[in-house]
Amino acid sequence: MRDDLLGDVLYVDLRTGEARREPFTIDLLKGYIGGRGYSARLLWDMVKPGTDPLGPENVLIFSAGPLTGTAVPCSGRTSVTCKSPATGFYLKSNVGGGFGGDLKYSGYSHVVFTGCSEKPVYLWLDDEKVELRDASHLWGKDVLETTALMKEELGDPEIKVACIGPAGENLVSFAAIMTSNYNAAARGGPGAVMGSKRLKAIAVRGTKALGVACPVAFGQCLKDTWKALRTDSGVPRSHKYGTSGGIATLNELHLAPSYNFQQGYFEEADKIGGQQLIEGGYLKRRVACYSCPLGCHRYVEIDQGKYHGTFSGGPEYETVQALGSGCGVSNIEAIIKANSLCNRYGLDTISTGSVIQWLMECHQRGLSFDHDGLDLSWGNDEAVVELVKRIAFREGVGDLLAKGLKRAAEQMGQDSYKWAIQAKGLEQSRVETRSAYGYALAFAVNPRGPDHLMTETVAEFGLSPEAREVIRSITGSEEYANSHLIEKRAEIVRWHEDIYALTECLGMCVFTSTGKYFMNPERMAELLSAAVGEHFDAERLMALGRKIVTLEKCFNVREGATRHDDTLPWRLMHEEQRDLPGRDAINSPEKMSKMLDEYYALHGWDKETSWPTRDTLEALDLSDVADQLESIGKLP
Ligand code: SF4
Repeated sequence: MRDDLLGDVLYVDLRTGEARREPFTIDLLKGYIGGRGYSARLLWDMVKPGTDPLGPENVLIFSAGPLTGTAVPCSGRTSVTCKSPATGFYLKSNVGGGFGGDLKYSGYSHVVFTGCSEKPVYLWLDDEKVELRDASHLWGKDVLETTALMKEELGDPEIKVACIGPAGENLVSFAAIMTSNYNAAARGGPGAVMGSKRLKAIAVRGTKALGVACPVAFGQCLKDTWKALRTDSGVPRSHKYGTSGGIATLNELHLAPSYNFQQGYFEEADKIGGQQLIEGGYLKRRVACYSCPLGCHRYVEIDQGKYHGTFSGGPEYETVQALGSGCGVSNIEAIIKANSLCNRYGLDTISTGSVIQWLMECHQRGLSFDHDGLDLSWGNDEAVVELVKRIAFREGVGDLLAKGLKRAAEQMGQDSYKWAIQAKGLEQSRVETRSAYGYALAFAVNPRGPDHLMTETVAEFGLSPEAREVIRSITGSEEYANSHLIEKRAEIVRWHEDIYALTECLGMCVFTSTGKYFMNPERMAELLSAAVGEHFDAERLMALGRKIVTLEKCFNVREGATRHDDTLPWRLMHEEQRDLPGRDAINSPEKMSKMLDEYYALHGWDKETSWPTRDTLEALDLSDVADQLESIGKLP
């Protein structure tokens, strides 16, 4: 095995400016795979319970996986790990682009930031050279300006930059870290953690060659992967229409939340989907992350009208739903504009749309609050665009929204928590979980809050032959490819948790193994074995995925999480969709409780508390974690 494929762990103390590196060894790989997995271990080891997420004791970890930098398709992803300022719990945010590849080519698997700098700084990784530089002249600049200035300053347009915009500097609770105009580590507020450390950006230029341990076996496995990729029925559509191409289908199924989840159908959905980006002439080109043949990203421009001159990545499915139909907005140009501003300011589009539509519903219900001079009627696209700015700069009512839904609803009062679509402090992503029980369970147990980016159980809809085969392989029968069933949801969720974690630990995009299915545990085991020269089989890798999921759970347990936290937003547990009256389309507390019982039992977690047992932790080689939890009375 070539050591440079594994890379080093770089520790940077922002208080002292000192940096040191340690090898990411094969033993660490055998224990945690890498990427998200070893980051979870570092977070557990380095962040004490009760740490302020925006204080110097929090860490911020960027990581690439052991397959990042190789020719494996879609292997250029980067995970960002820290304690979340939105939830106070575990946070992993994953981002594409080219940053992860250059991180590996410069010799690193992980970069771990500790402490806070007194003045704004950026980190410059130029292969071996590690330098913290003054970033005072960049503070206040948006993402595009920052990236352009850094490339000019460092004299290389090809360097990769991860940075924050004004939202991160202003500690907006859902601020993102951007690695390009298309790519955001957005969920849970990692940009605010970066802002609290006064770390404006990381620039990286890597030129090292990476080798694999068994080139012939690796090459053969790559050929097999490409063959599977070419025949995957989901790949062509993903390339042609992008993620927003699925809006029309989900809308017909009443699974496209609109008007702040009051209904699952949007009357004007045909105006805002991926097809409309093409027909309206907005789509200028398709864009891919490092090493990705799928190219699901879009680059769009508006050539005329009110928003003339606007350009943006995306907008992705979640963005269109959050800033569009969720707010009753059917003007696709306004959605592109709002998305463009989110990317420039460094904001999570899902959370931004969620807080805006919550405010619109406060207005709909006649609550008493300062409107800040805005007309908050559903569908007012100008108000949506204006609120994006006010959130980023914390102006007027934007300051309330910048706190995130949980805190904003607490401050607003007047029962507004009932339509604050959040749990654990994270705004829910745009999935109608009242009609999809696998998603409902997955969102409830997600350690970072209710979204699809820790576990994506899209196979439960059975919309493709590959999806139905996945459900059959998990449950024994295709009949469970039915999102309205409670039965077998625990099995379906746990399998998807394992493979999702495994995919991200390797540094790959989850669209390869959930949604599209050309990557499976067997193929991943062959690729990793050939790459590092250590034999892994599928079962061993999936068990490691489960170990990471369990460790992430334990971080939350140590922070005080219990079964009570594994829930969904109030509306999604207690109200029917108004466009599906009388249908079995509600996740009652009773149904959720039944699914949770089965899920905890399957994991070997205690049903009363949701805490992992000693037996479970020891079987996963996490005895020291069990010891720590026992010492603070959190082992059942
Ligand atoms: S499928 Fe899309 S998100 Fe995934 S690596 Fe490719 S371009 Fe990036």
